[in-house]
Amino acid sequence: MLQVIDLGKSFDGFKAVDGANLQVAPGEVVAVIGPNGAGKTTLFHLITGQLKPDSGRIVFKGEDIAGLPPHRVCRRGIGRSYQVVNVFDRLSVFENVQISVLAQCRQTWNMFQSASGFCMEKTKEILASVGLEDKADNICGTLSHGDRKVLEIAIALGSRPELLILDEPTAGMSPEETATALELMKNLSRQLGLTLLFCEHDMEMVFAIADRIMVMQQGHTIIQDTPEKVRLDPQVREAYLGGAEVCSR
Ligand code: ADP
Ligand code: MG
Repeated sequence: MLQVIDLGKSFDGFKAVDGANLQVAPGEVVAVIGPNGAGKTTLFHLITGQLKPDSGRIVFKGEDIAGLPPHRVCRRGIGRSYQVVNVFDRLSVFENVQISVLAQCRQTWNMFQSASGFCMEKTKEILASVGLEDKADNICGTLSHGDRKVLEIAIALGSRPELLILDEPTAGMSPEETATALELMKNLSRQLGLTLLFCEHDMEMVFAIADRIMVMQQGHTIIQDTPEKVRLDPQVREAYLGGAEVCSR
């Protein structure tokens, strides 16, 4: 589904991404791990069009999408959530998701008619799929951090992605919220059949859900393989945890 080949991106001569390689097959759950500053977020920005690569290729469903603007990438079927939450704080949970659903249905609106009644069913369906239906009327500014992160996933689902990219989906969450987010990701993958690509610091979570793991260091890919092989790889242990085993689950 997605192939990233020798991707490179520099900021004022500093190589933030330098030889990143990644493959994601349909239906897979792929995790990207690596220390802070390894280039994970930059890699996701490059895939989703927030940044343009200097070199390399990004092939999605057989077409090179490198350098396309974000709205085009989104229309082709890649949705994403951000490391730092992006929601409309003064709108309700329902409205935040509804806007995303509205943006995706290509129909001509009457500018003098309220859009508040449109796409109700689809919006409700998405809220139910992430477990936020009871909070539909809550104003987003009042939500817990965990609920805001989940809302961001719901907003991403509004564009009906085939591939969902999540940047640190459990960052800043309590252990209970993390467990809920993990269940949600399993649901998205197994029930909705979504392909997931995410980066995450919580190794327990990564090893609990990922089919394959890509390890980044200083902008480049060290390895992409099954959790078992990654856990035992000496180069990964050295680079990532100074010789310790990556996860002793
Ligand atoms: P990660 O998500 O793995 O922690 P990032 O992709 O955020 O890493 O950052 C990789 C490196 O690129 C870091 O050293 C960071 O400071 C640098 N970087 C990221 N974005 C920019 C930018 N817009 N301008 C300059 N440097 C950046
Ligand atoms: Mg990051």
